[in-house]
Amino acid sequence: MSTLVIKSGGEKGFAEWQRHFAELAPGLTTQFWDDPNIDRAQADYALVWEPEPGALAAMPGLRCIFSTGAGVDHVVHDPAFPKHIPLYRMTPGGAAQRMGEFVCWAVLHLMRDGPRITAQQRDHVWQEFTHPAANELRVGVMGLGALGARAAEMLAGLGFQVAGWSRSAKDIPGVKSYAGEAELPAFLARTDVLVCLLPSTPATRHILSAPLFAQLPRGAMLVNVARGAHQKIGDVLAALDDGTLSAALIDVYETEPLPADSPVWSHPRLVVTPHIASIPSRRERAVHVLGLIREIEAGREPPNRYNPEIGY
Ligand code: NDP
Repeated sequence: MSTLVIKSGGEKGFAEWQRHFAELAPGLTTQFWDDPNIDRAQADYALVWEPEPGALAAMPGLRCIFSTGAGVDHVVHDPAFPKHIPLYRMTPGGAAQRMGEFVCWAVLHLMRDGPRITAQQRDHVWQEFTHPAANELRVGVMGLGALGARAAEMLAGLGFQVAGWSRSAKDIPGVKSYAGEAELPAFLARTDVLVCLLPSTPATRHILSAPLFAQLPRGAMLVNVARGAHQKIGDVLAALDDGTLSAALIDVYETEPLPADSPVWSHPRLVVTPHIASIPSRRERAVHVLGLIREIEAGREPPNRYNPEIGY
């Protein structure tokens, strides 16, 4: 019988995870990460969000680690992270669809000038205004992985002119592919709405900053649904103030929750969402984890394993 130790959502979160796993896989033993009585050395699997540095290295029996989120930055920033133990990103089937829906909404919201609509309603102002059509806007998606590729396809389906930028070239119907540092300037120069879906790695840290914004057409729009570490938030605010960017929708911040006194909350051209772009239910994620465990126990290598060589 295998043992899965869970660190996600505190005691209440654990109770929910435990209920799902008990229903779906009665043979699996689940243990609460913070329970002082568990024998960590005996754990086969760990399902984690932001484990304390050093904690995973102190679990010598682990066969593999599952991140409760698609990103693994919250695990691998630990200098003692045991790189020899396979780490899997959370990629249940519905996650990409959910992200694609959110990105489409975000791009449409900015295209239709959502901040102005909100302000006009707040101020009881009835004033008509026009906006471009989807086929007049060039959307650029940075990161064409599981989530970015689906978002790009869905945007193309809405009629936007879509391109994507990734490390390696892609062949996605309706999406022009740009790859690598050398093609970044051309990708940015043709992008009216920039969507960030990169993983958080040393190479992508603070990529969304003044030098990059300067390469976009003036008045471009920004959607960041990846990680707060991708943006220099001061540069975003400055770019919104001087017209380099005309609007932004940001779901992720370096400090979450966003502090109550952050100037970000009240910027009139910035839409704040609280890291909600794609959150699969715990049940959906439990089903996914059990699928991974089945693959691993059958001796197969499931996809979406973190690669320490490239950092995602
Ligand atoms: P993947 O690992 O599947 O894809 C990453 C993509 O980024 C790949 O296309 C990769 O290129 C590209 N990439 C990585 N590094 C670089 C680089 N230096 N230069 C250019 N391209 C690069 O990630 P996912 O699509 O699953 O997820 C993306 C991120 O979304 C996650 O890491 C997470 O942080 C965030 N996320 C946010 C959520 C939210 O609710 N806001 C929810 C879930 C995830 P290549 O294809 O060539 O390897």
